[in-house]
Amino acid sequence: MKLSEIYTKKTKKPPISFEIFPPKGKNSEEKIQTLINEMAKLKEFNPALISITYGAGGANRECTIDIAKKVKGELEINPMQHFTCICSSKNYIGNYLNEIEAIGIENILALKGDEPKDNSVCYQDFKFANELVEFIKKNSNLEIAVAGYPEKHQTAPSLDDDIKHLKKKIEVGGGTIFTQLFFDNEKFYSYCNKLHAFKIETPVVAGILPVTSFGQLNKMVEMCNVKLPKNMLEKFEKFKNNEEDFIKMGVEFATIQCEKLIEFGISGIHFYTLNKAHSTKKVIQNLF
Ligand code: FAD
Repeated sequence: MKLSEIYTKKTKKPPISFEIFPPKGKNSEEKIQTLINEMAKLKEFNPALISITYGAGGANRECTIDIAKKVKGELEINPMQHFTCICSSKNYIGNYLNEIEAIGIENILALKGDEPKDNSVCYQDFKFANELVEFIKKNSNLEIAVAGYPEKHQTAPSLDDDIKHLKKKIEVGGGTIFTQLFFDNEKFYSYCNKLHAFKIETPVVAGILPVTSFGQLNKMVEMCNVKLPKNMLEKFEKFKNNEEDFIKMGVEFATIQCEKLIEFGISGIHFYTLNKAHSTKKVIQNLF
């Protein structure tokens, strides 16, 4: 099912979806099967899609396609490929688009991709995601989602500047916006208001991470350039040495976040599962 058919109207039970990433290291076939078995635990919630991340260097191209095939064939869930452009040529991307359309994939999340950590210059034909969106639009029938950052992208001088660039992605063919994960709903609400002011009316799907450890929480806050409301940081800190209670607290926090987003009239909720079903499952059970 295409994105435009999934995110049609705001309902009391918005579409839910999950993000997974390709397992790292050796024995990938075995690890992919373990991941698929893990995601099977979430099938009962009838997810609108499962999105599969893509390494900016393209190293896991085959792996992401293998995962998509299993998500579609074994789980019978709609896969959405992420695709990053900074290290790829037009030719490479053209072939990739043909390959995924041939296996029946209908949706793609078009991204710039993170700059390589060693600062090696890898730009080929694309510098920003809007160029990739335009290319995909011209060269495929895929529906195109784009990334949005309620707390602005870390390289953007301001949120307004970032939204201007987001608008470019929409104007050249981007549809649904999948947001960076966030913990502060107030930031998300004011982002949506700003999008409205910029006359961006495409559906916005909120990225939610049910956190499972204090170390992971800190890593995500830093990596994704997001803030945690102060009172929540204090609460989480109290449980940092008690794994079981911390996980419960993560579920509770994500549940409240989602309840408020549903009240707000969110178009969809995208769970960052980090390849584990447990906490996401609990949150959804709490919600519906
Ligand atoms: P862009 O939209 O190109 O924006 C990047 C920065 O450049 C922003 O600061 C923007 O304001 C600015 N900018 C944009 N266009 C222009 C322009 N024309 N001129 C000047 N400045 C401009 N990374 C991966 O490697 N693999 C993944 O699978 C992956 N999945 C993700 C999923 C989601 C939902 C999100 C939110 C992020 C994901 N990322 C992934 C991370 C993403 O690749 C990085 O954050 C990347 O740095 C930015 O990607 P983008 O598509 O948002 O870039």
